[in-house]
Amino acid sequence: MSQNPLGVHALVFAGGTTPDEMSLIIDQTAAAGYDILELSLHDSPNLDVADARGKLEAAGLGIVCSRGLAFTADVSSDDAEVVARGARLLHDSLQITHDLGGTHFTGALYSALGKYGHALSSAGRANVVATLKDLAVDAQEKGMTLGLEICNRYETNVINTAADALRLADDIGHDNVVIHLDTYHMNIEEDDFSRPVRLVGDRLGYVHIGENHRGFLGSGHLDFASFFHALADIDYTGPVTFESFSSAVVSPTLSNDLAIWRNLWNDGPELARHALSFMTNQIATARAV
Ligand code: MN
Repeated sequence: MSQNPLGVHALVFAGGTTPDEMSLIIDQTAAAGYDILELSLHDSPNLDVADARGKLEAAGLGIVCSRGLAFTADVSSDDAEVVARGARLLHDSLQITHDLGGTHFTGALYSALGKYGHALSSAGRANVVATLKDLAVDAQEKGMTLGLEICNRYETNVINTAADALRLADDIGHDNVVIHLDTYHMNIEEDDFSRPVRLVGDRLGYVHIGENHRGFLGSGHLDFASFFHALADIDYTGPVTFESFSSAVVSPTLSNDLAIWRNLWNDGPELARHALSFMTNQIATARAV
């Protein structure tokens, strides 16, 4: 059996987080056999936190929350008001994660999810570092961990590679800030699928598994064997979460931010079962050789 807790992103099942959508997401996550649900907080105004926590506990599922920021609430901005809105969004999201029973809050916590028309400014980077230092202290007091998800150049200008993320984490300077690798983004930015894993080493705290087109695992061209071998070589035992998007399941905000224009699958539960089997086999094979 896998030594890593295995998770699935909620957008495999539903685009929002109303109580009805949360019931469906939690039922289908558990039915597919996962340990963890990853919930994007893009729809948190519609989320009933206490209700969702009760359903998660009844289903025996762990919870990880993720999000990106917005151009109007962006801690990498040069504008103090925009930074302050981003910081409020982060602290509120951390509290929601805690209230759901989660210990991990991850994603593009450092910028909007979208294409920037300019490089990150030094003032903007300083705002990221200062904000995430404060958020790390807030998280530490709650016994929580923050993940820095490394995203590709079309979704952020703050950290595109593992080396970028390690420098940022060093500057934040708190042990509860970990690195989050995603194979979809690595395919665009990194040299290969093993060097970044070895570079990050024991600072790796969260993993997203996604295909090059974000569809069915194994239907694209990513070298998952190399990636899972590298995870085995550094003895990574943390969460591994499947992430996939299709125009069959739409969030009015997140799907547009991620440029989900194509229909790559229709049946989320089938996709989720297939992905669990794929990841379990890859992990077992990598650990056997
Ligand atoms: Mn991801």
